[in-house]
Amino acid sequence: MTIRRASVAMTEAMSSELAAHLLRADGQEDLCVAIYRRSTGRERVTALVSEMLPPGPGERAVHGNATVTGDYILRVAVAAAEAGAGVVLLHSHPRGLGWQDTSPADAEAERSYAYLVYRLTGLPLVGMTLAGRDRAWSARHWQPAGEPDWCENVRVIGPQLRVTWNPGLCPPPPVQQSQLRTVSGWGKAIQADIARLRVLVVGAGSVGLDIGPRLAATGIRHIGIMDFDSVEIVNLDRMIGATLLDALLHRSKISVAHRLMTGAATAADPRIACYNQSICEPDGHAIALDYDVIFSCVDRPWPRAILNQLAYADLIPVIDGGLVIDPFSDGGMRNATWRSHIVRPGRPCLVCNRQLDLGLVAADRDGSLDNPAYVAGPADDVPPRQNVAALAVSVTAALLAQFVSLTVAPGGRGEPGPLQYVLSVHHLDHRDDVSGANCVMEKQTVAGDRRIPLTGRHLRAREIQQARRAAGRRPWIRAGRSADDALHRARRRLTKIVSARSAADLRFYRDLPSRSDAWLASAWQCVPANVSDQDGAAPRSALGLYAVLCTRRRARQRPLSSCMRGDVCPDRDARAGQAGSPPAARARCSRLALRRVGAAGVPETALGQGWRRLPAP
Ligand SMILES: [Zn+2]
Ligand SMILES: [Zn+2]
Repeated sequence: MTIRRASVAMTEAMSSELAAHLLRADGQEDLCVAIYRRSTGRERVTALVSEMLPPGPGERAVHGNATVTGDYILRVAVAAAEAGAGVVLLHSHPRGLGWQDTSPADAEAERSYAYLVYRLTGLPLVGMTLAGRDRAWSARHWQPAGEPDWCENVRVIGPQLRVTWNPGLCPPPPVQQSQLRTVSGWGKAIQADIARLRVLVVGAGSVGLDIGPRLAATGIRHIGIMDFDSVEIVNLDRMIGATLLDALLHRSKISVAHRLMTGAATAADPRIACYNQSICEPDGHAIALDYDVIFSCVDRPWPRAILNQLAYADLIPVIDGGLVIDPFSDGGMRNATWRSHIVRPGRPCLVCNRQLDLGLVAADRDGSLDNPAYVAGPADDVPPRQNVAALAVSVTAALLAQFVSLTVAPGGRGEPGPLQYVLSVHHLDHRDDVSGANCVMEKQTVAGDRRIPLTGRHLRAREIQQARRAAGRRPWIRAGRSADDALHRARRRLTKIVSARSAADLRFYRDLPSRSDAWLASAWQCVPANVSDQDGAAPRSALGLYAVLCTRRRARQRPLSSCMRGDVCPDRDARAGQAGSPPAARARCSRLALRRVGAAGVPETALGQGWRRLPAP
């Protein structure tokens, strides 16, 4: 196993406790030592900060900078070794802002303790710095010798997911022209944070298949989708985007998801990872630990139990929800409810909010849940399986709204806690579920690799994968899949060819990302101010089409104003602004005036050459 990436995560409570110690009223640097548990994914290892051990008398000195004594490190390392944990050495940069580098003195201090700590605990020393001005964390893992492995991010999990990104390893991705409206919704800084998150969707059924493309369209670069199941004809009334051909060719759900997500992706370089796997197996579980946020779009008890556990043990927020339809026995619908909630420390787990019956996990695991006799037995305990496309989209919407609350925190408020929508009366409940006193999951918070093992061999997943492989050996299915794949490849190729031919048009937009947010928000209100500026170099796509229309109309001696959108352009006498018109007329021309003063709040230089923003009607 090669670990290629490192990160650190902690709860909001832990972050506040550390900040309270490290950020002093007198503005001096301070330091302290904590312990961490390790959470090992397939490619990423995360240090979960679990407990601060404050310095005792004489164990550190504050003198503008701060120094730590070997005794303090030794005391914590021994405690960590007994608990099977590692050591974190933290210090503050009171005037720091954003991700912090190490000064030579920082690096020397951390390096000098790395070997000792490794010998005692068997784990790398983690060095962390807290920037005082914005409470941004930065971190690195020190192997016993050599240079540190810098973390890609530090995640603080609370009502809002606060992530500090290492700009060297994860630079903010460039905003694309296709993302202008998204960016205008929450600004470039938040977009840069969201786009860098690694988001996993577990389950590519009615809800997962809907969520994946929306995340891709939002501009998130790394999205994973995991499912072992195949498309069946009975799924087609809910899996929007899956076709009859997919069902007839025994396609996997993730192949449909991949098609839809790559088609919807707006990131410059999207990385859509598809896992034909069950999260119940150790491999699937390890993959999940590589992600920052997980959508739970599965209805089976076993995978839900696993997701429920990793939300606490590995500090990965899990966004879960579901739909229950309550039909009358003789036809008709009594009610439908859908719920959404984020599972994380501080919120009730799926067992405590009664969205998971642990008693059914064993039945799911051994396959009895698929036995009709079992299902016909204690019917009340079996999760209802009714679902309709018209309402499944409400679950999608509820889950995505929770995601936006968690990552964007509209109005400064984070995720709202468990919500339930009651369809019959159209009422939204804020549920007051809390964790039970003996919640097994809360007790496993920050357990990391020491979590209670729940994974195992998933027989049902193996059977379905095997059936799909067997179907793929039939000549007609094989030929059908190849032809279908070729069609999709041809479509992707066509997109590439057309975008290459449009390169000249697209060049105009290449500089857009560096423009101000205000201008990005108003980009669609831009119209050409002086069409003659565009002569010979008229962009031909989107906004540029408008310029072409204007040029053509002018060529036919039509007044320029008639080709301006009347609802946007306040200037009905466009010829007033043209060269050679009398000075009085030129003074009336609002477009020339705009050009002189620049549009409100928008620097003149932020506008593309020959393009001016007109005021809103
Ligand atoms: Zn420092
Ligand atoms: Zn619980």
